[in-house]
Amino acid sequence: MGIIEKMRLDGKKGFVTGAARGIGKCTATGFAEAGADVAIVDMDIAEAEKTAKEIAAATGRKVFALKCDVTNEAEVQAMVDKVVAELGGLNFCHANAGICINEAAEKMTYAQWLKVINVNLNSIFLTDTIAGKYMLAHGGGSIINTASMSAHIVNVPQPQCAYNASKAGVIQLTKSLAVEWAKKGVRVNSISPGYIGTDLIRSSEFLKPLIAKWEDFSPMGRLGAPEELESICVYLAGDTCAFTTGSDFIIDGAFTCF
Ligand code: NAD
Repeated sequence: MGIIEKMRLDGKKGFVTGAARGIGKCTATGFAEAGADVAIVDMDIAEAEKTAKEIAAATGRKVFALKCDVTNEAEVQAMVDKVVAELGGLNFCHANAGICINEAAEKMTYAQWLKVINVNLNSIFLTDTIAGKYMLAHGGGSIINTASMSAHIVNVPQPQCAYNASKAGVIQLTKSLAVEWAKKGVRVNSISPGYIGTDLIRSSEFLKPLIAKWEDFSPMGRLGAPEELESICVYLAGDTCAFTTGSDFIIDGAFTCF
């Protein structure tokens, strides 16, 4: 069997959070194209259902939508239970839901800070530990977390201290879980995308005018496309990278290199 065949995810079952649109939609598509059955998990159930239908029709895999607020412990537990019941197991997950609030630190309210930390970091603890607990008891698995290049640099000119801090936390949590579970068959890695042209950026009146500035500063002169994150996630979900855990993969067109 060649390496491409070995990288396939036939027979594997997983879920992606924040998968109704953007990066999560693309990685869920990649997982299904590689042969996996996938749950599309999102707060926005109407959009998640559309996405699930689209991916199922394009790939012929079992793909279905689940409503879940990833900051709610009971909802995350119920979501993981439902994925296992519907798909008959859980081999991988991509904890990807996230938000950004652009506010100067001295003007940011504590409620805004907590919201970002809750959605971007506390949710990763919930998703990873609840999915991880199942994987630990059922032969192992692979967990992928979405961090950001903002875990590595401070973006300018827009202020986003809570976002940056939350994403740095995601990387250290990823490494901590990877070490704790290294001998137990559960791998945990993160991806750190640079600027990706999703609604997170394009539908923000505050961020939209900054796109040209970031493009100017970027060595490639452009934003990334969410599709450009699919293959790394398919790789991480599969078995060919059994020695890969506790790693963070920066995919930013060299934005953070200087
Ligand atoms: P997006 O806004 O297009 O999609 C995010 C999805 O997450 C939405 O469908 C939304 O409904 C869902 N979501 C938000 N809060 C949720 C919650 N509490 N529970 C369940 N679902 C929730 O964003 P995106 O650009 O696709 O970003 C996905 C991830 O990638 C985020 O973690 C983001 O921080 C990260 N990221 C994005 C970029 C970028 O430039 N777009 C760069 C680096 C990292």
